Order: sequence, then C-alpha cells, then structure tokens
Amino acid sequence: MTYTAPQIRRMIDALPRQRLIFSPTPLHRLNNLSADWGRDIYLKREDMSGPSPLSGNKMRKLEFVLGEAVHRGIKTVVTYGAYQSNSAMQVAAAANICGLKAILYLGDTKGEGKPEEPIGNLLLDTLLGAQIEYVPQHPQATATNLTPMWDHMIALCKQKVEALNAAGEPAAFLPLGAAHPWGYVSDVLNYLEITEQSAAMGFKPDYIFHANSSGGTLPGLIAAQLLLGEKDTQIISINIRSWAEGNVVTRQTCIERVRAIFERLNLLLPTDEAIVARMHIDENYMAPGYALPNPVAQETIALVLKREGVFLDPTYTGKGFSGLRDYVQKGRLPEGSRAVYIHSGGLMGLLAGGQMLEGII
Ligand SMILES: *Cc1c(COP(=O)(O)O)cnc(C)c1O
Repeated sequence: MTYTAPQIRRMIDALPRQRLIFSPTPLHRLNNLSADWGRDIYLKREDMSGPSPLSGNKMRKLEFVLGEAVHRGIKTVVTYGAYQSNSAMQVAAAANICGLKAILYLGDTKGEGKPEEPIGNLLLDTLLGAQIEYVPQHPQATATNLTPMWDHMIALCKQKVEALNAAGEPAAFLPLGAAHPWGYVSDVLNYLEITEQSAAMGFKPDYIFHANSSGGTLPGLIAAQLLLGEKDTQIISINIRSWAEGNVVTRQTCIERVRAIFERLNLLLPTDEAIVARMHIDENYMAPGYALPNPVAQETIALVLKREGVFLDPTYTGKGFSGLRDYVQKGRLPEGSRAVYIHSGGLMGLLAGGQMLEGII
C-alpha cells in the first residue's frame, strides 16, 4: 500500500510537535560544480534549518523528539556526544525554545584533555546555558573504535535520568545524534520536501547522498520511499562511522527504526527485504576515524569553497560530499544524472580550528 504526500503529511501532522525549523529548507543547484562535473548537483540545506544560522540536521528531528517530550511533561533532556557535538548544541538550542533544561555529557573522543576555553560548539553550548558535564577519554577507546566511550556516556546519561526521575523531575534520555524513536518520522518530511521542491524545479533526483552517522536521518528517508512507493531514486549513505556489528548503530538498527516509523503511524510494517533494498551504505570514506580529517575530504571542502562558496565540515559533510565527488570521478554517477546532497550542517566543526583545518588552508 502506498500513500500520497498529502496523506503522509496528514498522518505526521497528528503527532506532538514543537515548531523549531524554517521549512521547507532550501534546495538549490550548484551551478559551477554541475558544469565542471557534467552532472546536476543540488544541495538540500538542512544546515540552514534554523532557528539560528548555526544549525543543522538535528533540529528537524527535535521538533518531534521535544514535541513528544513536552507532551509527556518532561522537564529535562539528557544527551551526549563529543566535545564538538553538533547534536548536543542543537539539543541545547531546541530545549531553550521549548522551555526544557538540557544536560550535555560531552566526551573527549580524541584524548585532547578538557579544553581550556570553550570553542566551536562547546562555546555555543555555554552561551545557550546548557549544563555541561565533561567526560574524559575512555582508556579502551581508539580512533576507529569509540564504542567503549559511547557506552560509558550512555550509562552516565541513563543514571542521571533515573536520578532525576526518582527525585520527581521528569527527564528523558536522548540517544547519540538525537536519534530518538520519537523523531525518526521527521526525515519523512525532509524526503517529501526534496520530492516536491525538485518537482517544482523540473527534475527528479536519481540519487540522494548524505553523511550517515547516528542513523537518525536514514530511516525517515527510506520510510518515505516505502510510503510513496518510490523505486527510482537511490539513497546513498556515506558513512562517517562504521555500522558494522558491535557498533552503537548497525544496519539492523536502521531496519528496526524504519519499522518503528510505520508502527508510530499505525501502518502495516514493510518487509525487511523492502527496507534493505533501499539501503545503500558506503563505508569507504570514513578514514582515518570519527572527527579526524581525511585529506581527500579536506581537499573537497576547499574545492566546494572555491567553486560554490559553501562551507562543508571536516567531520561529516566534507567526507559525505567527497563520497559524492568520488562517485562522479569513478563514473558511478552516469553523465547527466541528478544528485541531491543533503547538507547536514557542522559548520562549527570547521570553526573549532586546529587539526580540522589541515589541508584546507
Ligand atoms: C549528526 C550529523 C550527521 C549525521 O546524521 P545522522 O542522522 O546522525 O546519521 C551528518 N552531518 C552533520 C553535520 C551532523 O551533525
């Protein structure tokens, strides 16, 4: 059974929600790179979702995550991430709008020690007035395996939530990347926006690329394709961290999250085969590890600045877009094809400076 966009919107509009973003976020063509590459390349500007110019792809999810939290009488949200977590910063901003308290557990994923002065997202977290809890590097964590660190921070968050709830202060835990089941549905709307905006511009995307990490975005994109019965557009997920077995998020997690969207909308569940057929995970662009710069990605950031004046970031969007660029260079995107790249934000990662600027300046 498939549905029209208005039918899907009606189902989603019935869910608790806090309005946080400007939607639709812009979709525009990269004219210079399209000419250079012989393919039509578009950006979907989730980095400009609002409410401020320093934003990103978590705000869309938080409309529904915090919408549900407020609906349930939650007063405090507790989340975690790296020191420069984009997600934690957006949780802090969104919580302020909703009148909630935000507690952020921020971990030293690179063994750099506690920052002397807050910079980048950490500065914004401070300005936003969030409660920040620093978590030192975990002795068993490595650049390519942060699982012990994330597991430790999950445990800290959950303890905090339990303590708050026991004290009569309703609190909720928001997982890595604000990828909470309450919010997966938001990227169904992202997909509908892309469909409608591209149709209005006179094209249909052959590909949708994005930087894939905590897996809060992809389930919604896949669910939208299943709901619409869309088979021609291929979603290509350039992984920023591994989804192999044993990680916080895996391919199996993604399947379960797609099913969770259908459950949330009270719809008949799709088969695992139908979901997997729409999942294209590429783990070839995440070296040398999470939040560590990759030389080709850095060169891609410089190229996009030079040709289009658009800022990408070293942790996510630079690696994601360098995946798209490599697909073009290898001819994996046929000439004349149309690709939408979801720009998911991350600007503060670039502005935090240091090693993240290697190869760009
Ligand atoms: C979180 C994030 C992503 C990844 O999105 P997920 O929903 O976590 O997969 C990509 N880009 C940026 C800038 C992000 O902050």
